[in-house]
Amino acid sequence: MDAAESIVIFETRTKTMSHKKKKSERVYAFPRKQLRRLVKRAVKKSELSGREICGLILDNGSLLELLALKNKSQAPGSFELSWKDFKRAEQAARCLGHQVVGTFHSHPVSSAVPGPSDIQSATTGELMLIIGCWEKEAMLWRIRKGKAKKLPFREING
Ligand SMILES: [Zn+2]
Repeated sequence: MDAAESIVIFETRTKTMSHKKKKSERVYAFPRKQLRRLVKRAVKKSELSGREICGLILDNGSLLELLALKNKSQAPGSFELSWKDFKRAEQAARCLGHQVVGTFHSHPVSSAVPGPSDIQSATTGELMLIIGCWEKEAMLWRIRKGKAKKLPFREING
């Protein structure tokens, strides 16, 4: 009797432990071609006009996808999404079972690090992908409570 009871207790403990392990933070992945294309577009745009490109990050459950939208801002070094475009994209994404989880934009002359206005304009918990046009590289951030945390990500073929 005693032996059986202790086995049951042991099983419960291992279950809890393995459950905790699975909850570790997800490493996000982008389709490599899409990301490369976006970096190229950002660099070209900055060379032509000094302006930023921008859009939304969609989560399809396994990958993050990038949806470019029009930059309403005419000023160099800034971006502004139109509310109408945003709402339309959000609705379309929802129809496909995807979710808008953040935004992306480019930095024509600075590195891919969020500036104070980027942090201020972000919604809490949102992902922010920034493309640094000089370094031709993209960095992923999570903006939460006025702080930006850099997140690792993978690039996946396809
Ligand atoms: Zn920025």
